[in-house]
Amino acid sequence: MAIKQYAVIGLGRFGTSIARRLYEAGQEVLGIDINEESVEDAEPYVTHGAIADSTEEKALTALGIKNFDCVIVAIGDDLQASILTVMLLKNLGIKKVIAKAMSKRHGQVLEAIGTNWIIYPERDMGERVANQLLSPNVLDYIKLSKDYNIEEIMVPTKMVGKNLRDLNIRAKYNVSIIALIRNSEIIVSPSPEELLQNEDLLITIGNRDDLAKFSGLE
Ligand code: ADP
Repeated sequence: MAIKQYAVIGLGRFGTSIARRLYEAGQEVLGIDINEESVEDAEPYVTHGAIADSTEEKALTALGIKNFDCVIVAIGDDLQASILTVMLLKNLGIKKVIAKAMSKRHGQVLEAIGTNWIIYPERDMGERVANQLLSPNVLDYIKLSKDYNIEEIMVPTKMVGKNLRDLNIRAKYNVSIIALIRNSEIIVSPSPEELLQNEDLLITIGNRDDLAKFSGLE
């Protein structure tokens, strides 16, 4: 994977967990917070830590923020600081600015000023929990569009011991299997002869309604 430069502004729980995951994946991460203690706490999970007020253009410029591929604004409660920071970053020409929104209104303002990706952590997590309760066989999913998902689905018991050709899942359920996960190993584009085993995870792509029917099989 190519190494990219990320800056995370606001090292609360949300910002720190983004910084940490990126850093552990070998990416370069600059962590910025106005609060000294927050920077110190995040120090083990960032390449560099900086104490700065992100609403001050000079402070951002001094940190060389223009050179970053992607900047994540993880300031929560201080709406004004969040909005001002995004505005400065967009004015400085940062291509990809991601920001967390604490409310619908906050999100609307972030959208109006050109935020490239707006995250609603609480809303999204709530939705995930509800989906997990409704479809316990779906372990994870990615929304591709309004209608299409990629989903990680537990193999239905009745399909164990059968091969993909005979199961004919694409024709019967309108769902494509793009990979299998077996004992933590990933098998990409499994062959039609592949026998499904107990506890296999199927990585599927399809229309959400079709996927819902498929993941509801026993
Ligand atoms: P979480 O819910 O993810 O913990 P918080 O709202 O508690 O989020 O944390 C946001 C962080 O953003 C805090 O550590 C705070 O110090 C930081 N922050 C707030 N305003 C600024 C600013 N102007 N510049 C830099 N960091 C800021």
